[in-house]
Amino acid sequence: MPGKKIKKLKKIAVLTSGGDSPGMNPAIRAVVRTAIYHKIEVIGVKWGYDGLIKNITTPLISRSVGGIINRGGTILYSARSKGFKTKAGRKKAFNTLKKHRVNGLIVIGGDGSYRGAHELHQETDFPVIGVPGTIDNDIAGTDYTIGFYTAIDTAIEAIDKIRDTAVSHNRLFLIEVMGRHAGFIALASAIAGGAEDALLPETPTNITKIIKQLQNYKKRGKVSSIIIVAEGDDAGNALEVAEKIRKKAGYETRVSVIGYQQRGGIPSALDRILATRLGSAAVEELINGTKCAMVGIQTNEVITNPLEIAWEKKKPIDKSLLKLVEVMSC
Ligand code: ADP
Repeated sequence: MPGKKIKKLKKIAVLTSGGDSPGMNPAIRAVVRTAIYHKIEVIGVKWGYDGLIKNITTPLISRSVGGIINRGGTILYSARSKGFKTKAGRKKAFNTLKKHRVNGLIVIGGDGSYRGAHELHQETDFPVIGVPGTIDNDIAGTDYTIGFYTAIDTAIEAIDKIRDTAVSHNRLFLIEVMGRHAGFIALASAIAGGAEDALLPETPTNITKIIKQLQNYKKRGKVSSIIIVAEGDDAGNALEVAEKIRKKAGYETRVSVIGYQQRGGIPSALDRILATRLGSAAVEELINGTKCAMVGIQTNEVITNPLEIAWEKKKPIDKSLLKLVEVMSC
């Protein structure tokens, strides 16, 4: 990946793209401050790739990113850009980069955003570095993505409150968390929230088995239960799973959907540290002449991988964690 060292990296651009995640702001801050430390100018591109196409930029100095380490969302705003999926759109985006005499682009976002960055690099040879910013944690090439742990904190705050009601009324609650294609949030929320089960898109859900488990719990005197459902579970969303349980066993269940809350909020300490490490590493990669890569964290070391890893490799869930949920529910 490291290419010919760019003689003088003078100016870089940074943008946030796709679904926002708590921790994008500390990542922007880290990019800006690291660049300035190395006497490199930075421009922020607003509204993701749309802003790049339409030339909506703002100079970022050290003060521009003061007081944002603890703010959710992204000061650069984020968007999904249809235009960038076209060659003509990417050409306009490239012209914006040339106009500003930028010689490197840092993209904070998910795998979709990486695909866009990769296309741009393939067509223009422009250096691009991806920083994994998504609550879903579904990007291969990094153990964690920025925003994941804050989303878990949000989910367990809700789960803890629902647990009070579940216990007071002897009820079964199905709590739906985000994760259309991946169960990382559901699995981590289930462990941290002390749930009885986690239903994930990666593993087949067996309603009969769930009912049997619930009956076993009852026999053992456990009268309230919480099951975490990833929104993209193969048995359906939480409401649909509740209906299937009701039809099969006659159990009334309560459903709670946590939803978009998980995308916002004050970034947790873990996410701030991860964002600072990865944002800073992205700039270092550009300085070192890396042309097209993503930065990530693996066993607490900052690493780089080809951008393609994000869509060519599926990140597996850790089955031992699923087993742990089962063990903890006995
Ligand atoms: P995320 O980055 O969170 O996965 P998306 O999948 O919505 O979010 O991708 C964000 C943006 O990246 C898209 O709106 C589009 O502009 C760009 N993008 C995604 N896939 C491609 C692609 N194959 N080619 C070019 N641009 C893409």
